[in-house]
Amino acid sequence: CGASSPVPMTPKKSQQWLQVVGHAGSFHVGDYGRLLKRFCKREQQCYLRLMKDALRPFVPEYHGVVQLDKLDYNMMDNLLTHFITPAIMDCKIGSRYDLSESICFYRRSKEDKYTFYSSNLPKEFVVFQYNLNMKISIMGTQSFSNRICQIKKKKECHTNFKRTKSREQVMKAFDSFVESSTQIVWGYLRQLKQLRQVLETSDFFRTHEVVGSSLLFVHDWTGRTGVWMIDFGKTVILPPHLTLDHRTPWAEGNREDGYLWGLDNLIDILANMLPT
Ligand code: ATP
Ligand code: MG
Ligand code: MG
Repeated sequence: CGASSPVPMTPKKSQQWLQVVGHAGSFHVGDYGRLLKRFCKREQQCYLRLMKDALRPFVPEYHGVVQLDKLDYNMMDNLLTHFITPAIMDCKIGSRYDLSESICFYRRSKEDKYTFYSSNLPKEFVVFQYNLNMKISIMGTQSFSNRICQIKKKKECHTNFKRTKSREQVMKAFDSFVESSTQIVWGYLRQLKQLRQVLETSDFFRTHEVVGSSLLFVHDWTGRTGVWMIDFGKTVILPPHLTLDHRTPWAEGNREDGYLWGLDNLIDILANMLPT
């Protein structure tokens, strides 16, 4: 599901939806404030299977395909519905998205009451975005020939160094995202641990290679938090004989995606933000 052609957007003041990252122009707001995302067959297949899986509570509810101006869209619940002017973060998980993880969030500003809800996020509103590059070293050393391996090994030191820095950076970013609220961190941590537990038993997860998917973090001033898995445009079902543990480093042919490894890291980072 590559780049999408632009669709004319009609921003509505009342629509309680905000896009943090992703392809501009591929979203609309439908009935009941539901979200319409430009149709992608792979994503549709995933959502259909997810609706029958243990992971169902951790993804937006899927409502089938609808047409708008002769274009097809996957319709799903808007995850922001029950929040009041929420802070939102899109965090890509796993080692297989352009060899990096990226993290990005957006917070509502006082003076910005309505444009905030337009479907396209103006660039200047992205207050934080960078690549964590947490897993590049692993991918490098495991997947290339000896010669390249040496170069990558050098890089590994470099990346390891960077990784420490990244962990601090992620922590800082998270701290800023939650505005140093321990209560919010607790909320997210509890939900991430629940998610991990369910992922470890999910048939969907065991049989799918999850690439380029994100965790969407949402909270508001009431202290309410929510974490959901979104974006399954690059998630594919594996051949019947193959299953993944999502922690084993990627090697050519094993199709591991590092998803649980990424989640372990995230949980670890959040746990470290709490007073001991
Ligand atoms: P990418 O460039 O990551 O492939 P994409 O075009 O596939 O992006 P998504 O990642 O699915 O799009 O969504 C983009 C953004 O839209 C998310 O970061 C999030 O802010 C918002 N979003 C997506 N789905 C939902 C939802 N169900 N409820 C609320 N917001 C959503
Ligand atoms: Mg995405
Ligand atoms: Mg996508």
